[in-house]
Amino acid sequence: TSFGYQEVREEEKSQLVGNVFTSVASNYDLMNDLMSAGLHRLWKDRLVSKLNPFPGMKHLDVAGGTGDVAFRIIDTINNEKRQALQDSFEDNLLEDTQIYVCDINPNMLNVGKKRAEERGLSEVRSLVWVEGDAEALNFEDNSMDGYTIAFGIRNVTHIEKALAEAHRVLKRGGRFLCLELSHVDVPIFKELYDMYSFSVIPAVGDIVAGDRESYQYLVESIRHFPQQEKFASMIDDAGFQKVQYENLVGGVVAIHSGLKF
Ligand code: SAM
Repeated sequence: TSFGYQEVREEEKSQLVGNVFTSVASNYDLMNDLMSAGLHRLWKDRLVSKLNPFPGMKHLDVAGGTGDVAFRIIDTINNEKRQALQDSFEDNLLEDTQIYVCDINPNMLNVGKKRAEERGLSEVRSLVWVEGDAEALNFEDNSMDGYTIAFGIRNVTHIEKALAEAHRVLKRGGRFLCLELSHVDVPIFKELYDMYSFSVIPAVGDIVAGDRESYQYLVESIRHFPQQEKFASMIDDAGFQKVQYENLVGGVVAIHSGLKF
């Protein structure tokens, strides 16, 4: 059976997204590297450098299943702190820092927890794994210094609800950052990119993960995601100030940001 994005009714979308990520969870890292030629690592570095993490911060990374963004935040805080202290003690560097990783899919969270173990982070109390929905967050109002969502908001059923929740949980002065596959608007490059995403990605998904449909869905969900300007105005409508975006690789990816005042 094949499914088209158009045919997918709204109430089925979350179920479908669940299936997709259950299916891709185990191949997730490999597929990311293959599909982006390793670039997703640099894009996530960029996201975290824009966040400017600091010791003691309370941060929420939504759709953060595999921990990619959270690990970078912790590494950044540890490195800066170590430099400032000019010593090599690893203990208590993170102090009161709390990085919450929230994902709707327990399989993705398990991948992240396993990776935390491999990195020697399983005992780090600053890292908290939470199963939850971006549209109905289980966190208090005005409780977070930062909110990130990387390659996640595209899969959320009601983007407006997720943005409203991001705004609700952030403290005043808190920063919203969203990394997402976006829209290329450069002639020739756009045609090449379309060719790549419509033919190569599902084929690689088939060969590597044995799952063409899930990757077909991912490609179509990129097409249906709002353009950069439109998404920026949605963030604005959710109440954020100083909304901006930065295109990377001609718009293959964009980082949108906003502040809660
Ligand atoms: N942020 C990670 C990264 O960049 O590698 C994972 C991105 S992965 C493409 C998308 C994630 O969004 C999946 O782990 C999926 O379970 C999660 N997700 C989808 N819908 C969600 C929702 N409504 N609330 C929270 N997480 C969701």
